[in-house]
Amino acid sequence: MQKDYLSLSSESQSIFDKDSKFVMQTYGRQPIVLSSGKGSLLYDIEGREYIDCVAGIAVNNIGHCHPHLVEAIQKQAEKLIHVSNLYYTEPQAELAEELVNISGMERVFFCNSGTEAVEAAMKLARVNTKKTDFIALEHSFHGRTMGALSLTYKDMYRTPFKPLVQEGNFVPFNDVQAIESAMTPNTAAVIVEPVQGEGGINIPSDDYLKEVRRICDDNGALLIFDEVQTGFGRTGAWFCKDHFGVQPDIMTMAKAIGGGFPMGAIAARKDVSFARGEHAATFGGNPLACAAALASIDVIRKEELIRRSREMGEYFQKQLRKLSTDGLVEVRGKGLMIGVQFDRKCADLVEHGRKNGILLNCTSETVLRIAPPLNISKEHIDRVVNVLEQA
Ligand SMILES: *Cc1c(COP(=O)(O)O)cnc(C)c1O
Repeated sequence: MQKDYLSLSSESQSIFDKDSKFVMQTYGRQPIVLSSGKGSLLYDIEGREYIDCVAGIAVNNIGHCHPHLVEAIQKQAEKLIHVSNLYYTEPQAELAEELVNISGMERVFFCNSGTEAVEAAMKLARVNTKKTDFIALEHSFHGRTMGALSLTYKDMYRTPFKPLVQEGNFVPFNDVQAIESAMTPNTAAVIVEPVQGEGGINIPSDDYLKEVRRICDDNGALLIFDEVQTGFGRTGAWFCKDHFGVQPDIMTMAKAIGGGFPMGAIAARKDVSFARGEHAATFGGNPLACAAALASIDVIRKEELIRRSREMGEYFQKQLRKLSTDGLVEVRGKGLMIGVQFDRKCADLVEHGRKNGILLNCTSETVLRIAPPLNISKEHIDRVVNVLEQA
């Protein structure tokens, strides 16, 4: 039976009311109250089903409530939830080894979110180079805390909070010469998202990151890849850098690392490391988060979700390119990190999707971002494309 996606029950309304009364209104939310999920599907408290093409913003890479993840969290929670980093735990050591293996880096530091990972990367770059400045790209997004915010491009996010750690030193995306020109003797690091997420799914040309690597080396600056959104199979590789064959000095991770359990981390070369006392996080790498991350990585490997991301990503993009939606300019992406560029705002498509059982998201106002769980089925992809076709 076709559920009614337009009506609103008093249960939903009472949640909206509480939110507007008690929660700071920082988010523009869709008017649905989500209460459960399975794989690529989400359900609201009115029992309506949605195909999830947001995945908690590239977080739920293994789908919602994957049984292996749920079991790992349950088991660990019964044993030990948190202890201080004054002590060792097995899950943290195991996860560190796993992250080193899949990233090709040498040492990790654990924190709790993407913005914290960027903060750690900034501190590490400064303490390691004894230099203070950063170069970031136009349309970058690196987070909302003061340091990371300094490297986030959007004026609207930054202006109310000035003075920041460093006043923006932003250069055009995919422009090698611009990086070269922006380098100074005081440049500690260049920070780049290998594919820009919030900025609209922007993909650099094949040799861009290699060139940035060379310029950093020539100038004694470090290269930071922000893989917070692109990591853990999202783009059809463990990390997006793998497509380009470039290793950074420091990389950040978060979003999908714990399959939905909050966590962040940085990984770096052995000789780019914090000394004792230079950085810390109370919750960083706590056993519950690490158990979740280990389980999530396990699922990505066992279910070959990286290959799936590549294959389903290609299929999804191919189907999207057939759309004749008004104002559609371009479909671009890597794996299941897909952007559909319009020549107009696309908020209406998000609403159309929701009213037809599809969750979508607009980034950068004119780009429809499609980032479903990596185990989304062909049938679900077809349904999403059909709904968009009707728009
Ligand atoms: C989401 C995101 C962040 C910030 O992560 P939070 O966990 O929201 O702090 C940083 N960098 C990139 C590339 C992101 O996509």
